Amino acid sequence: MRAEVISIGDELTSGQRLDTNSQWLSQRLGELGIRVMYHTTVADDLAANVDVFRAALARAELVITTGGLGPTADDLTREALAAAVGRELYLDEGALADITALFTRRGRAMPERNRVQAFFPTGSRIVPNPHGSAPGIDFTLTRPDQTTSRVFCLPGVPAEMREMWAGTIVPALQGMLGTTRMIRHRVIKCFGVGESDLEALLPDMIRRGREPLVGITVHAATISLRITTNTETEAEAAAIVQPTLETIRECLGTLVYGEGNDELEHAVLRLLAEQGTSLATAEWGTNGLMSHWLENAAQDRPMYAGGTVLNGVNALKHILGEHAPPDEELQDRKTRVRAMAEHCRRQWGATWGLAVSDAPAKDEGDAPRIWVALAGPDGTACHPFTYAGHPDILVPRAAKQALNFLRLKLIE
Ligand code: AMP
Ligand code: MG
Repeated sequence: MRAEVISIGDELTSGQRLDTNSQWLSQRLGELGIRVMYHTTVADDLAANVDVFRAALARAELVITTGGLGPTADDLTREALAAAVGRELYLDEGALADITALFTRRGRAMPERNRVQAFFPTGSRIVPNPHGSAPGIDFTLTRPDQTTSRVFCLPGVPAEMREMWAGTIVPALQGMLGTTRMIRHRVIKCFGVGESDLEALLPDMIRRGREPLVGITVHAATISLRITTNTETEAEAAAIVQPTLETIRECLGTLVYGEGNDELEHAVLRLLAEQGTSLATAEWGTNGLMSHWLENAAQDRPMYAGGTVLNGVNALKHILGEHAPPDEELQDRKTRVRAMAEHCRRQWGATWGLAVSDAPAKDEGDAPRIWVALAGPDGTACHPFTYAGHPDILVPRAAKQALNFLRLKLIE
C-alpha cells in the first residue's frame, strides 16, 4: 500500500511553522509497514488543495491529511476533498450534536461558524475528535475499475491528530492490512572514511529492493547504516537482519564503532572501562566538544578524569608553566598538541592524555590540517588529519577524529 501525507496550512508553506505532523505520521505509518511515497505541503487555497487531493488520490491508496479542519474561512479541507471526489457536502446531525455538546461542556454556546465543522462529503465516515471541535473525515474513493483510495483527514493540532490516529486510524489501517506487519530498524555506526568509500567496501549491499534494505546517511562525519526489515514478528526481524549485520561487520572491521544511538565517546568509554584505564583531554579550536560529549556520556564514572579547553597560545603557555617549550617551538602545531596531550595526562593523573589542536585560520589557504596527539604509558603519538569538507563540520569532525584516534589505539 502506497501512502501520501498532505499537510495543509499557510503557516507551513510560509515557513512560520515546521511541519512536524508529516514526520510523526510517516514514522507511525512506517511502523505499520506502510511506505510513504510522498509528502505534500499546501497553502490554505481551495484550488491548490483540490489539485493536491486529486494528485494524491491518483498515486496513493492511502492519503492522510492534517490541517484545514477548523471553523474559519481559511479551513478548506472539507470543501477541497468534496470537490476532488465530486461529492456534495451534507450536514451530519450527529456530528453537529457532538460539537454543540463540546461547547456546552465548556460552558459556552456554539458559535455559528463552528457549524461548518459538521459538514462532510457524502459517503464519509466520521472520525471522532474527543478533545476538539473538528471531527475528522474517513472517505473511500471507489473508481469505475473498483480500485480504491482511502483518505483520512485529521486536524492540524498535533495533540488532537495523535489522539484520533490512535483511536480510529490505527484500527482502521490494521483492518485494511489484514495482517499486522512491523518495520524495524537496526543502525550500525561507523567513522573513519567518507560515504562513498564506505559504500565501496560493501559490495551490492546498498541497493534498492534488497531484503533487508540497507540505507546510508552521514551526519557530521559519522556514517549510519540503517538496516530495515518488514516482518510479522520481532523474532523474524532479528533472524533476517543477522546475516546482514555480520557481513557489514566483516567488511568494515574497525570502521564500525557501535550501534543504535552510540556515539564515538560511548565506544571510547566502553573500552576504557573494559581495560580499567582513564582518559583526560585537552582541546583547542573544538569549542570544548570532546569534553562536553565525554562528560555527558561518562555520567560521573571514573573513566573520564577531566578536560581542559584552551583558547589560544597564551592559555597554553599558562597551563604548561615550567613545562612550556620555547616560544619559537610553540609556533608549530605538532609541538603544541604534543604538549597539550602530555600536560592533561599529567594534570589529571589519567592513563591517556588526548589532545586536538586548532585548525589553521581560513585565510591561511591550505585545506585545514588538524593535529591529534595521544600521550600514554608508552610515550606520545601525534597525527595530522587533513580536512576537505564543509567548514561547519570541521569542529565536530576534529573532535571525532581525536576520539577515533584513541579508540583505534585502545582496540589495537
Ligand atoms: P489547523 O487544523 O489547520 O487549524 O491547525 C491548527 C494548528 O495546528 C496550527 O495553527 C499549527 O499550530 C498546528 N499545525 C497545523 N499543521 C501542522 C503540522 N503539519 N505540523 C505541526 N503543527 C501543525
Ligand atoms: Mg490551518
